[in-house]
Amino acid sequence: MRNAWLQVILIGASILLVTALHFATPLDRITLHEIYQRIYYIPILAAAVLFGLRGGLGAALFASLAYFPHISMHWHNHNSDYALNQYAEIVIFNLVGVVTGLVGDSSRRSRSRSERTAAELQKAYTDLRQTFEQLLQADRLTSLGELSSAVVHEVRNPLGSIKGAVEIMEDALPADSPQREFADIAKREVERLDRLVGEFLRFARPPKPAVAPADINEVMRAVATLTHQQAAVQKVCVETNLAPQLPLVKIDAEQIKQVLLNLTINALQAMPKGGQIVLRTLLENEKQSVVVEVEDKGGGVDPAIAARIFDPFFSTKEKGVGLGLSIAYKIAVQHGGSLTVRNGTHGAIFRLSLPLGHNEA
Ligand code: ADP
Repeated sequence: MRNAWLQVILIGASILLVTALHFATPLDRITLHEIYQRIYYIPILAAAVLFGLRGGLGAALFASLAYFPHISMHWHNHNSDYALNQYAEIVIFNLVGVVTGLVGDSSRRSRSRSERTAAELQKAYTDLRQTFEQLLQADRLTSLGELSSAVVHEVRNPLGSIKGAVEIMEDALPADSPQREFADIAKREVERLDRLVGEFLRFARPPKPAVAPADINEVMRAVATLTHQQAAVQKVCVETNLAPQLPLVKIDAEQIKQVLLNLTINALQAMPKGGQIVLRTLLENEKQSVVVEVEDKGGGVDPAIAARIFDPFFSTKEKGVGLGLSIAYKIAVQHGGSLTVRNGTHGAIFRLSLPLGHNEA
């Protein structure tokens, strides 16, 4: 805005300067006067290019008003033919102002049209990229699901055989044999492995969501309550910032609670020395979705690994399994929504978006 005023002042000043030159130059230096009168076109054209019809016509009128007294006061008596010529020049000032102004306006319109098109294209490209990345991620997760169920079956069968074999060996042992203790250990370990493998399968292939209308704020409150104790131990304050009167959203509340618990636990782990977690809900009108955010002050996700944190088995933690976010992502997609991350001023902000119109998962 300040720039525009500066341009107007410069245009006005140059017109006044040319007029001053006319007044200061003796009438017998006619060549100089002819040069000056043409210099008026420079600010007129500049105004037309910068401000369109308003600018071109405005500058032309201003130049006409500024030049007119000089013609009527000096040239009228001195050389009436030349004066007539100059009046005609004034008319041309205005014609040039109008024509170049119209051209300026139309080129500005087409520039803003192409800028709009470029912005729309850019948005379409970003959306497409996002969808592509989501598909890629979903594909990776599907492969993980298939792979893990194959591995789980491969592991479970021999585990069953081992258990059976240990039981047979155990039966053959005398009741007071000290080796019974080893057989017990072997059986317990087999059972532990079996449980672990089952758990892994449950994580890797979450069941299809059983959706029902639910209040997402209720889910958030449950998450805050469940994590309250651990947060207190770590001196982390869990704050809820829930949008009032959110519409019910069709979700599998248990699964979404798992996702949010995962995100909140990650947030807690990112702040071993205390801090703050904000659990936020909001309605995104444009997208017709309910948005849930988990924000922490743990320093954020290192940009170098941001693209990989939703990958299965990716973890930067010493004892991390690296499944939490990939499962959360999968659940979000199964709900027709999305899970993304960005860094805020002090930490990571995980954003789960759930469409309102999603009826079936
Ligand atoms: P895990 O917790 O077992 O490492 P996740 O899939 O939950 O597995 O997380 C993957 C990785 O994402 C983490 O190891 C960590 O590097 C990163 N991460 C997750 N949540 C956060 C967070 N709130 N702040 C910073 N980094 C995070």
